[in-house]
Amino acid sequence: MPGIIFTQEKTEMTRALDLEIKNSRNIPRYIFGEGSINNLKSLLLERNDNKSGYAVYFIDIFFEKNVKPLESLPILDSDQVFYVDTQNEPTTSYVDDLKNRLMGIKKSLPHTIIGIGGGGALDVAKAISNLLTNSGNAEDYQGWDLVKFPGIYKIGIPTISGTGAEATRTCVMINPATGLKLGMNSDYTIFDQLILDPELLSTVPLDQYFYTGMDTFIHCVESLSGNYRNAIGDAFSNQAIQLCREVFLGDDMMSNKNRQKLMVASYLGGCAIGNSFVGVLHPFSAGLSVVLNIHHCLANCIAITAMGQFYPQAVEEFLRMAKKQKVNIPRGVCGNLTQDQYGQLYRATIIHEKPLANALGKEFRNILTAEKTKEIFQAM
Ligand code: ZN
Repeated sequence: MPGIIFTQEKTEMTRALDLEIKNSRNIPRYIFGEGSINNLKSLLLERNDNKSGYAVYFIDIFFEKNVKPLESLPILDSDQVFYVDTQNEPTTSYVDDLKNRLMGIKKSLPHTIIGIGGGGALDVAKAISNLLTNSGNAEDYQGWDLVKFPGIYKIGIPTISGTGAEATRTCVMINPATGLKLGMNSDYTIFDQLILDPELLSTVPLDQYFYTGMDTFIHCVESLSGNYRNAIGDAFSNQAIQLCREVFLGDDMMSNKNRQKLMVASYLGGCAIGNSFVGVLHPFSAGLSVVLNIHHCLANCIAITAMGQFYPQAVEEFLRMAKKQKVNIPRGVCGNLTQDQYGQLYRATIIHEKPLANALGKEFRNILTAEKTKEIFQAM
C-alpha cells in the first residue's frame, strides 16, 4: 500500500520478534480450475496402489445437507467420512475425539486424508493427519515445530476462500483447558496436494463469501503495514490485495471470473502469512472470538471498523467494498459490556505479542493500554 516504508534491514524489531531467515516451504502440488475436483478420483487411485487401503474424508458439515456440490466425490465403501462441525472453531479435544473415533473403527492407517470445506474443516484434516503418525494428543503439538514425523498424505479442497488455510503450515485449535488458541506450526502440517476448484464457491452465501474473502485482504494489509517485512511476503500480499480489489469493487463479486480470482487471492494470502505476521487487527478480532464467540472472519470485519488510526486507507477501502456488495457489518457489538468483559477482551487481545510488536513496536503495551483497548472495542 502506498505510504508504507519498505525495509529489509535487520532491525532491532526483527531481533525482538526472534526472526531469522526461514527455510520456507510451499504446497508441493495443486490443480486449479473449474471442475478440477474431478481429478480427485485418479489421485486417490494412485495413492491406493495395493487396492486394500482406504481414504478418510473430513467434510464441512454444511455439505451434509447440501450434497449437490460434492455429489461426484469418489467415496468408496471402505472409505470413512466425517462431517466437521464448523459452527465453532476446532478445539484440541474435538480433534482428539475425531481421531479416536477413526481408530476405533479402523485397525490400519488410511492412505490419504481429504479435507473439504473452509478453514475449520481444512485445519481439522491437517491436525488429524499429523496425529495419526505422532503419538499423544493435539495439545502436545500446539506450538512451533513440535511434530516429529510426516503425517498421512493429505489433500485439501477449499470450498470457501479467504482464510488461506489451504496454503499455511498451521492448523488453528483452541485448547479449552488453557484457553490457548494456537496451531501445530510445522512443515508437516502443509497439504501435499490442493485441488482449487472455483466452482465449489458458487453455493456460498453472499455474506459469508464477503466476510471470508476479507480475511485475506486484512491479513495482507496487516503484514504490509508491519515492521517485519520481506520482499517475498510483500509480493504475495500485494498481488492478493489487488485481486481482492478487483473482486469486491466489481459488480458481481461471485461471477465465474471473480470466484477464480478470490481463490487465487486466498492461496497467495496464505503464502504471504507464512512469510510475515499480522498486525493490530487480528488480536482485536481474536478478542471478539474468544470473549463474544464471534466467528473469525466476521470478527475481522467488525474489528476493522475501529482501526482507522492504524490502517486509515484500508478501512476506507473496506467500507467501500462492503457498500458496493451491500453487505451488512454488525455495529455496536461491544457497546454495552460489563467491566469484567472489557477486562477479558483486553487480556485476549494483548496476549498476541508477535503481531502487536510487528505493528506497534516492542513497547506496544504503552500504546494499547486497557483504557485505550476498551475505547477501540466500544467504537466497533
Ligand atoms: Zn485471519
